[in-house]
Amino acid sequence: MGWALAEAARDRGARVTLVAGPVCLPNPKNVRLIRVESARGMLAATRKASRAAHAVIGAAAVADWRPLKMSRSKLKKGAAPPALRLTANPDVLATLARQRRSAFPRLAGFALETNRLLANAKKKLAAKSLDLVVANSPAALGSDRSRAYMIEPGRAPVLFFGNKKKLAELILTRLLEAIRSHE
Ligand code: C5P
Repeated sequence: MGWALAEAARDRGARVTLVAGPVCLPNPKNVRLIRVESARGMLAATRKASRAAHAVIGAAAVADWRPLKMSRSKLKKGAAPPALRLTANPDVLATLARQRRSAFPRLAGFALETNRLLANAKKKLAAKSLDLVVANSPAALGSDRSRAYMIEPGRAPVLFFGNKKKLAELILTRLLEAIRSHE
């Protein structure tokens, strides 16, 4: 989805920075690609790249937790299964929303929900102070087609059905409208 969004924004003439975790996809042409390996790395790169940006779209499935300790050497098998202690990862979009000082960057995110899709996605929109949430179900994972709701504050949700390229186009159209209305 991130690749589809980056290419669609590039094709509309935007200057695009794509911050991506470890995925096996080729570098898109005329897009600045920054590869990261952790949620903290993603936050640092996104924060820097978003300073002068009109919009940030968070499409990565960022892990909510990370192991508290990292071992530099192989963990040898013991008699009992080891306890894995976790600590919270930063939320990239929520952090950008907390730190933004103007209407920009406009912030869009995704919500993948197994139940109460609309209600949970609306909660996410408010909790993370986002401008747009694209809500879909796990059926979208690994598939090129998705059925998704576009949810924006003060607007009725819009149902979308189509491939990722078309979804990317719709997200960009909505964000452009929001950018123009705030400029
Ligand atoms: O809370 P949840 O993971 O369902 O939120 C989904 C949205 O929040 C996605 O747009 C995802 O990229 C973003 N997110 C984030 N940082 C995290 C977790 C999720 O920016 N640590």
